[in-house]
Amino acid sequence: MSDLIQVTRSSMPEYEEYCEEIRSMWDSHWLTNMGEKHQQLQRELEAYLDCPHVVLYTNGHLALENVIAAMQFPAGSEIITTPFTFASTTHAIVRNGLTPVFCDVKPDDYTIDEEKIEALITEKTAAILPVHVYGNMCRTERIAQIAQKHALKVIYDAAHAFGVRYRGVSSANFGDASMFSFHATKVFNTIEGGAVCFRADALVEVMNDMKNFGIRGPEQVVFVGGNAKMNEFQAAMGICNLRHLGGEIARRKLVAERYRERLQGVAGLRLCTVQKDVEPNYAYFPVVFEDTFGASRDEVFTALGAQGIIARKYFYPITNSFACYADLPTAGPEKTPIAAYLAARVLTLPLYADLALRDVDRICDIVLACGKTSG
Ligand SMILES: *Cc1c(COP(=O)(O)O)cnc(C)c1O
Repeated sequence: MSDLIQVTRSSMPEYEEYCEEIRSMWDSHWLTNMGEKHQQLQRELEAYLDCPHVVLYTNGHLALENVIAAMQFPAGSEIITTPFTFASTTHAIVRNGLTPVFCDVKPDDYTIDEEKIEALITEKTAAILPVHVYGNMCRTERIAQIAQKHALKVIYDAAHAFGVRYRGVSSANFGDASMFSFHATKVFNTIEGGAVCFRADALVEVMNDMKNFGIRGPEQVVFVGGNAKMNEFQAAMGICNLRHLGGEIARRKLVAERYRERLQGVAGLRLCTVQKDVEPNYAYFPVVFEDTFGASRDEVFTALGAQGIIARKYFYPITNSFACYADLPTAGPEKTPIAAYLAARVLTLPLYADLALRDVDRICDIVLACGKTSG
């Protein structure tokens, strides 16, 4: 196993640092239910993300599912979203009994094509749920304008965009709410974990009710909530990882820049455009293998795998072609041709803070050799 290079490697603090962080729990025996660590991480994230309200969750998916529920959209409502995302985004809509309507993405940064949104709006449309995919920011100003014109809510799936800033504004501050994932594979992790971030004071109580059975006091239950609380061990991991995040992102940047140096401008390889006015988090390094490259995405995937390098077909398949949505009238990858094109050709290459640059070079050598030998 040690020779394999996985697509990602979870950030972890030193063992001793984590032990020190959880030591107080052996005195208090307070393991969950919004304890000291939970409160501390929440305060630290509100400061780091520069957002008035951060509600912590046990994972990103339940955070998203719950914030959609909190908006209390009428039964039968439609939500405009993209299929070029992780299963969670679409599932969160469908599990709320709502209908996802799939909008295509843009060919340069793979986020929702904001100019295709209005054509999809019907009298049932209640919200737009775009994804800051790979940490690329959606065109937030234009989306806000469309939402305002049609009285729609905007919920961002910001699972990939932790720490990203647009014109100096944290990614947590756009739309009516943003969901972050702190899953082990993300730029910032709490083992499993997530959060909903927003500015409206009115949403605080309902988001807290959602994750803790609607319990407001020892004898007061006011809301039919579920259980999606972040526990103290998760919060402690977050406190430790947050201390080192700046350094982690700086080292990710070196890896991403090396990939770009080696792969930019190669015929048949398409890299994400570097977004103007965006301070990135270097979460992923997707490469699209165009038909002119000389080797297909699957051939490159196999060639890397043969050398113990695990890349990921992320996102393939796209969610509007999932078997579980076969009966959904809005499904069908042909309705989102750019997303379908990308899904058939994209590979995210290994990227994590301690990936050695010599390994990045080796990965690039293998990729480039594929283009030369086949075709
Ligand atoms: C990771 C991820 C999620 C779900 O987050 P979890 O913390 O794993 O539940 C949702 N959307 C996207 C785009 C993701 O990458």
